[in-house]
Amino acid sequence: MKKRRLAALAVCAALLLSSCGGGPKESATPTPDAQEGAYTAGTYEASADGRNGPVKVSVTFTADAIEKVEIVEHSESAGISDPAITGIPEAIVQYQSLGVDAVSGATITSDAILAAVAACVEEAGGDVEALKAVPAGGEKVEGALETTTVDVLVVGGGGAGLSAALSAAQNGASVILVEKLPALGGNTYRCGGAFNTYDPERQANNPMDEALSSTVESLLAHEDTSPEHAALKADVQKQWDEYKASGRTNLFDSPEWHALQTLDAGDYLGNVEQIRTLTTNALDTLHWLGENGVTWSDEVSTVIGALWNRSHQTLPKASGAEIVAALENAARAANVQIFLDTKAESLVSENGKVTGTVLTNANGESVTVKASKGVILATGGFGNNPEMLAKYNPEGNNWENIEKLSTNNTPGATGDGITMGLSVDANLVGMGWIQLMALNSISGGGISGMINSTAFVNQEGQRYVAEDERRDVLAEGALSQTNQMFYGICDNKEATLRMAQEALDAQVQYGMITRADTLAELAEAINMPADALEATIAEFNDLVKAGKPDQFGRRTWENTIEEGPFYAVAFTPVVHHTMGGLEINGSAEVLNAEGQVIEGLYAAGEVTGGIHGTNRVGGNAVPDALTFGKIAGETAAAK
Ligand code: ADP
Repeated sequence: MKKRRLAALAVCAALLLSSCGGGPKESATPTPDAQEGAYTAGTYEASADGRNGPVKVSVTFTADAIEKVEIVEHSESAGISDPAITGIPEAIVQYQSLGVDAVSGATITSDAILAAVAACVEEAGGDVEALKAVPAGGEKVEGALETTTVDVLVVGGGGAGLSAALSAAQNGASVILVEKLPALGGNTYRCGGAFNTYDPERQANNPMDEALSSTVESLLAHEDTSPEHAALKADVQKQWDEYKASGRTNLFDSPEWHALQTLDAGDYLGNVEQIRTLTTNALDTLHWLGENGVTWSDEVSTVIGALWNRSHQTLPKASGAEIVAALENAARAANVQIFLDTKAESLVSENGKVTGTVLTNANGESVTVKASKGVILATGGFGNNPEMLAKYNPEGNNWENIEKLSTNNTPGATGDGITMGLSVDANLVGMGWIQLMALNSISGGGISGMINSTAFVNQEGQRYVAEDERRDVLAEGALSQTNQMFYGICDNKEATLRMAQEALDAQVQYGMITRADTLAELAEAINMPADALEATIAEFNDLVKAGKPDQFGRRTWENTIEEGPFYAVAFTPVVHHTMGGLEINGSAEVLNAEGQVIEGLYAAGEVTGGIHGTNRVGGNAVPDALTFGKIAGETAAAK
């Protein structure tokens, strides 16, 4: 747990408290003879708003102590919020304090618990301000990282770091992985875990249609932008000619076609060889993850901005959390030593070779790890570092007031690896290309993967964009609508396909998504002209049936929006992915400005740049992080 400011708690408590009080539970009668103690003994319940809805606590007091704190109801994200859900109640009771540190990475959940408990304290006649001033914590963490030597040190415990650590260990290296937050996962944990790869087996039943064929033809007709692009196009042309001659009717795909789409989506600024490394190895990585505990769905689809039906999802929940959990288990089983709350501060180098790292361990002590085979930077992007966003934004998309936009990134995404890389003269590429995610639910809830059978509609009830467009186009489109927001509208078929009924019901109950039996009632509930919404959805349904590109250029269609009840989710763009970063080669070695390898330094995942160009294809981040993580581990272990 990191230090928190007590003043901030007071403010948060005021803001977050939604329905505190309510008095003691009917079953728990306050003990009348406890008047002289600090509290009126009994059990009290209160709730405060967490990230995904109310967090309800039940607190039992004796006359002079907080005896028990229980979380009785919450809908916080599993995994991310776990350290707060278990740690904060324990700490409150252990230290008899409300001055408990919020868990970094789960600050909103922590503050909600503290605010709700504070309400119970007040209800029980206790002194909230005095309890906030009681110090909590301070004892030493057992087993914190000490100064040591290892073959490979991996910095960062998201997808790239975990796959690098696992592959290095599987290739015979001794490995330490450090994560600066109290939980593993990073952005990989938070994402939907979509994994794009060509996969003839799973794509066997995906159909081809006129709109998809015209996409292939149009990219093949694009003028050459480099010799590497020309060679890639020639490869795809050959495959396309063979495909057409074969008379096949299922989806056309190949690593090269995936690469060409990735290059095109990034406006031909990505490094063709690096993209080819990614798309050629992605299927292998998918199988390797399968061997190491990830369960993949048998179907592939198109997640937002993915452009083609090659997005794989994990089972049972379609989430990055499942990839992180499997990799953590596999890494621990392969003897990777994992240290949480441990932050790499700087690189140690000798004669131009990186030989280790100086870190702050879980007890706040400075320690040094020497890594004889190398250091792998897997620290993620800088989406949660407003200064870096403001500094680099003008070099790329130049989004207006980017530092004022929210982000859906992990608090750990502060660009540390980029700063460390710069200290040893690493080259940076594409730093200004910053991706906004349009499909970011304002309520924090939502229906995951809404795109295939969903219409994006503005407050006026009109569609304004092709829902299967590139993410930068979707973000730009959304930022120019009323209140910089839009609604995803879908029907019962789509909603229940994407989410369990109980989860939908809970979100409706907490006001996180809107549901209505008819489109007119849905429109009324979200202050939209009903006739406009009805006309828009009727036209959308005609387009689905026609299966041809529409006036916005939408090409991928699935189901109509016809079967009530209907759902609306409000979305607004946030900072999502920073496409620039350290330049690496196909072996995940970090390069300097002269294109020379910086010995002993490797990098993978969002900390690197050069693959996605101006715009990352949805569903390409996870294969990027995991494929180059795997390569980095193999390369470092082989030194
Ligand atoms: P990727 O997809 O590239 O793996 P993630 O965001 O999933 O990126 O993971 C990056 C992880 O690195 C995050 O969990 C973040 O907290 C961690 N991290 C960032 N900087 C440091 C650092 N200096 N020391 C240790 N861990 C770090």
